[in-house]
Amino acid sequence: MPSRPSPFGKSRLSEFRLIKTLCRRFGQTGPRVLCGIGDDTAVVRPNAGGSLLLTTDLLAEGIHFRRDTATFEDIGYRAAVANLSDIAAMGGTPQYMLVALAIPPNCTGTNIEQLYKGLMKASRPHGVELVGGDTSASAQGLFITITMTGHAARERVLTRSSARVGDLIFVTGTLGDSLAGLQLLLNDRGAAGVAPRDRIYLVGRHRRPTPRVVEGRILARHGLATAAIDLSDGLSGDLAHVCEQSGVGAEIHTAALPLSSACLAYASAQALDPIDLALQGGEDYELLFTVSPRKQARVERLARRVDCRWSCIGVIRPESFGLRLRRPDGTLRRLQITSYQHFGNQGPSDREAACSH
Ligand code: ADP
Ligand code: MG
Repeated sequence: MPSRPSPFGKSRLSEFRLIKTLCRRFGQTGPRVLCGIGDDTAVVRPNAGGSLLLTTDLLAEGIHFRRDTATFEDIGYRAAVANLSDIAAMGGTPQYMLVALAIPPNCTGTNIEQLYKGLMKASRPHGVELVGGDTSASAQGLFITITMTGHAARERVLTRSSARVGDLIFVTGTLGDSLAGLQLLLNDRGAAGVAPRDRIYLVGRHRRPTPRVVEGRILARHGLATAAIDLSDGLSGDLAHVCEQSGVGAEIHTAALPLSSACLAYASAQALDPIDLALQGGEDYELLFTVSPRKQARVERLARRVDCRWSCIGVIRPESFGLRLRRPDGTLRRLQITSYQHFGNQGPSDREAACSH
């Protein structure tokens, strides 16, 4: 079947034509946007009261994504989710997006169209509007930087720095699925012993993660969480951020870590410990949040209203306790912090030294 001609042109990209086409295809905006793509800056009418949230995330080819394990649509989708998830973790409502691209010679207009399709597929359902960006050539590798804004009630933002000793630690959804999905993509032989539907589920969780925007907003609106963070680097590393910034330690109950049946099946087929996948796996984009024990019943009632599970996985301890895992037999072991770090990954991080004993 002949493929549909792309309005982006076949091979040689023209910056001006590209921007025009992006504007026409993806740049529709509502009445709050006085000026979207096309002028020197976007102009929007500010929200009355509340706080303005701003976040940016850069994705570099070869570091954050590879073209052999993700389509351009997947790459766009995940780039949007990284930002949506940051806004979700603050309890905000995402609003506007600017997209800066550095495009290498081996990317076509159709590739960029697919990228924007993914971006909009992830962000439109949350009401996000594309209001601008920047476009450059890249000598090597594709770079995508998204800047997203959001808004929140002034007193209601969820920060990393206010977890208190005795608070319960919750996470949304299930953990480790994205890492299992990535491992399956990188090593197709790993699929031996994994049912096709489990493989599809895990790969889907890697390629199209769900930002927990609704959940973050509910937590903020009801004043339920003392602190929150999104799980982009992996539970161990992101929990360490909350502990360091709140000046506390944490005890995680391994038996309480939420694991999907697909992740359990994958771990069993690969003779891996699923707990390690849950602790180390990045890019699940679930939320971790802390709750005063007085509010546990309310949190559990609200959890029934959203379409993902919320699991209590542990408790905040004093800083001197460090970060530890409680195993089902009652013994404690130190939590290894294994999240990805740029510029070398050797030895314990500063964070680890500060938080773990
Ligand atoms: P300037 O020279 O002022 O940076 P540009 O020619 O780069 O202007 O951009 C023209 C318009 O197109 C601006 O409104 C800008 O926000 C928008 N734009 C440029 N690149 C992109 C992109 N990759 N995605 C969305 N909007 C873009
Ligand atoms: Mg520009």
